[in-house]
Amino acid sequence: MPQYQAVKGTRDIFPEEAARWKYVEGVVDALASLYGFSEIRIPVFEYTELFRRGIGSTTDIVGKEMFTFQPDPKGRSLTLRPEMTAGVMRAALQHNLLASAPVHKLYYTGELFRKERPQAGRQRQFSQFGAELLGVSSPAAVAEVITMMMEVFRSLGLQGLKLRINSLGDTDDRLRYRCALQDYFSPFHDILDDASKERLEKNPLRILDSKNPALQELIVGAPKLYDYLNPASVQDFEKVLYYLDERNIAYEIDYRLVRGLDYYCNTAFEVTSSELGAQDAIGGGGRYDGLARELGSSVDVAASGFAVGMERLLITMEKQGLFDALTPQCPLVYVVVQQQDLADHALQITCRLRNAAIKTEIDLAARSMKAQMREANRIKASYALFVGTTEKATGLYALKNLSTSEQTMLSLEALLEFLCEPTANGQLQS
Ligand code: AMP
Repeated sequence: MPQYQAVKGTRDIFPEEAARWKYVEGVVDALASLYGFSEIRIPVFEYTELFRRGIGSTTDIVGKEMFTFQPDPKGRSLTLRPEMTAGVMRAALQHNLLASAPVHKLYYTGELFRKERPQAGRQRQFSQFGAELLGVSSPAAVAEVITMMMEVFRSLGLQGLKLRINSLGDTDDRLRYRCALQDYFSPFHDILDDASKERLEKNPLRILDSKNPALQELIVGAPKLYDYLNPASVQDFEKVLYYLDERNIAYEIDYRLVRGLDYYCNTAFEVTSSELGAQDAIGGGGRYDGLARELGSSVDVAASGFAVGMERLLITMEKQGLFDALTPQCPLVYVVVQQQDLADHALQITCRLRNAAIKTEIDLAARSMKAQMREANRIKASYALFVGTTEKATGLYALKNLSTSEQTMLSLEALLEFLCEPTANGQLQS
């Protein structure tokens, strides 16, 4: 057993898997650009207070999952980001983004940190991609972020995901509902677990999030938030559903969906995958117009967004065989040196190919020809290019297609032309 192991709840991503991440990130980048979202990158740690205010002190994240540290005895407490939205909003407010343009559409990919008990699909360091649409408070805006998220899933070929959606109403709706929940749960105080007892005082909506099996029957009988919505909130929600219907995005209304974070209002949604077992949430989001004020802004900033867990997305894609058909986009050439006194010449050719943007590998350890060929096959090279005395003297090089064993003699110019042609790439993948 080596002396050092990766920390529990973190993992290493090796090249084959990293290629899958890149592929997914590429699809996210392309769709974000199509929908007019630009990338934002924010710091990995922030002042702890930002998350306490922005996420809410009654949430599990703030209550028990944050990696918090103090850089020096007098320094302010810092926390590794457990989610992105608070940081994005902090950046937007700090730099007064909305003064330069009334609407900002931002997206991100990045690592997050939560001190949760690690299990399949749940880590202490994990990644999300997501989007935040700031400055517009409308059903069309929330429908736009849902559409973009679902479009990412569709483009990746994912099947069988379930989108659940609910309305949390406005602040007044939730205040009335909060009282109704307190009235409902208070007589059962003795059977509530400790966490729910605390939530009953501070944030009874969160009792509905409880996974405690002993409370499920009680939770099912609780009043529905939907019944406490005012007509404007109902109309807002119906308009969101109208857009989803129009776009053929299937959903299920789930009146119990409240989501863990305090800053949501109106629409909230979550996507689950049956492929994932206990940790089945793959992404979620909603509208959070109240967050900016919570962070000290003197004005409201309308906002909607979503976040999707990369690890769970990749697990689902793997289970659905969506990586099986991924083929390299361009041919890989392995330069095989027949005699070591030609190694420098082979390296020059390698540079020429790479300068022409052709993926090229060469042995750097003066290994035998047999070992070089083995390596070419191991790394799934498409072609072997042989460099021997005859080749050097005549200027004609043998290029062997490693899947068909077909061999052609080509000058360096003809070789470059052939390998750069789109048809060469096409042939390769067959
Ligand atoms: P949340 O910010 O809690 O709404 O999470 C959004 C998505 O991030 C979830 O649906 C998961 O896919 C993913 N996620 C959240 N927590 C974890 C975790 N500890 N490990 C892996 N993925 C996570």
